[in-house]
Amino acid sequence: MTDRKLHPETLALHAGWRADPQTGAVAPPIYQTTSYQFDDADHAARLFALEELGNIYTRIGNPTTDILEQRIAALEGGAAALAVASGQAASAYAVQNLARAGDNIVSGTDLYGGTYNLFANTLKDQGIETRFVDPADPDAFVRASDDRTRAWYAETLPNPKLVVCPIGEIAALGRPMGIPLIVDNTAAPLLARPFDHGAAIVVYSTTKYIGGHGTSIGGMIVDGGNFDWEAFPERHPTLNTPDASYHGAVWSQAAKPLGPIAYVLRARTVLLRDLGAALSPFNAFQLLQGLETLPLRMPRHCDNAMKVVAFLNGRADVTRVIHPSVQTGIQAERAAKYLSGGLGGLLGFELAGGRDAGRRFIDALQLFYHVANIGDARSLAIHPASTTHSQMAEADQVKAGVSPGYVRLSIGLEHIDDILADLEQALDKAGV
Ligand code: PLP
Repeated sequence: MTDRKLHPETLALHAGWRADPQTGAVAPPIYQTTSYQFDDADHAARLFALEELGNIYTRIGNPTTDILEQRIAALEGGAAALAVASGQAASAYAVQNLARAGDNIVSGTDLYGGTYNLFANTLKDQGIETRFVDPADPDAFVRASDDRTRAWYAETLPNPKLVVCPIGEIAALGRPMGIPLIVDNTAAPLLARPFDHGAAIVVYSTTKYIGGHGTSIGGMIVDGGNFDWEAFPERHPTLNTPDASYHGAVWSQAAKPLGPIAYVLRARTVLLRDLGAALSPFNAFQLLQGLETLPLRMPRHCDNAMKVVAFLNGRADVTRVIHPSVQTGIQAERAAKYLSGGLGGLLGFELAGGRDAGRRFIDALQLFYHVANIGDARSLAIHPASTTHSQMAEADQVKAGVSPGYVRLSIGLEHIDDILADLEQALDKAGV
C-alpha cells in the first residue's frame, strides 16, 4: 500500500489486511483454528524463541485477531496492539504488565464501575494498591506517587460526570518520573488521540463504539511505542529484569529487533499466555466489521447528542444537562483540546422529579433500550440511582455524579427526529 499517511476513514478499511493470499478473499477471513502447522523444526524453534513472530496457538495470537490489532494500532497511532476478551481484561493486563504485589498505581477516581472494583478490590487482593485521586488535578498524581508507583491510569471521558481528563498535563508530569499514563479511551475512539498528548498506553473496551453494534465483548491494549522503559530500570522491573517465565528474557532488550513494543510483547507472551483472556476469532471478525464504519458513526453519535442537549436544555422538567458542550472554564478548555474530533455520544440529565420521575421516564421510553451499556448503534438509557449505583449510599452516589434524578443516555444513530420524539413522550409521561 501507499507510504502516504492515510486518513482514519481509509485505515479503518485497509490497515492490516489486503486480500487472502490463497483465495483472494477481500473480507478478512475468520481463522477459526486453535493451532498452526509449523514449516519445520527450525521454524517452530524460532517462533518460540521470538526470533520470528508468527502463529503458534490462538490463545497467544490469531490471524483474524491480528488484523484487528494492526488496524486499531494504526488508527490510534500506536506501535502495536493486543486484543483480549473484554475491556476488563484489557484494564487488568494493562496494569498487571507493570505492577506486581507490593507495587501501586495512581488512578483517577472517575472510572467505569467495573474498573473501580478491579482496582479497589481484586488487584488489591493481589497485592497491587490503587491510590485514587481527582483526575482533574494533575499534581495529585505526583503527590500520590512513590518509588513503587508503576503507572497512572485515567479515562478520557468518564461517565457520569463527562469531565474530560487533562491527558497531556498528567502525562507530562509522569514522564520525567518514569511513570507512564494508561488511558481508557473507550468513550472517545477517534475523537481523542491520547498518544498525541503523551499517553503511553491506550486501552479500550471494544465492546462499545468500536464494535458499535452490541454483538461482541472485547478489549484492546495499544502500546504507544513512545515510552523509554529502559531509561527507568528500577521503576519498571517487569520490562528490565530477566523473566524467569521466559528463559530469562529481558523484555526491553528482547523486543528491540521487533520495534518499540516491549510493553505489549510482554503482555502477550506472559499475561495472555498465562492468564488466557484471549479474544475469539469470531468476535475479532465482528469487531472488524464494526471498526470499518467507526469514522462514519462517531460524528453522527456526536451530532445527535448535541441536538439532544439542545432539546433537553429547553425542557422545564430538566434541571441540568451533563455534556462537555455545556461545561465552562477549564473543563470546557480541556474538552475542546482533547476531544478535538467531537464531544461524544454520551450525556446525562437530571429530572426535577428526582428518583421516581427517573424511573417513570425509563419505563416510558419506547425507542431507547433500557440497558447497562454504552456505545451501541441504538440509543440506550439507564437510571443509575436505581440500577448501576443502587448499592451505594445516596451521599456516595452524589459524589460519583449520580443524583437521584440523573438519567444517562448513550445516543445512537437513529434519525434525530425519532430520538427526540421518544424523549419528549417519555418526559411528558414521567411528570415533574
Ligand atoms: N472501560 C469503560 C469506560 C467501560 O465503559 C467498560 C464497560 O462498560 C469497560 C471498560 C469494561 O469493558 P467490558 O465490558 O468490555 O469488559
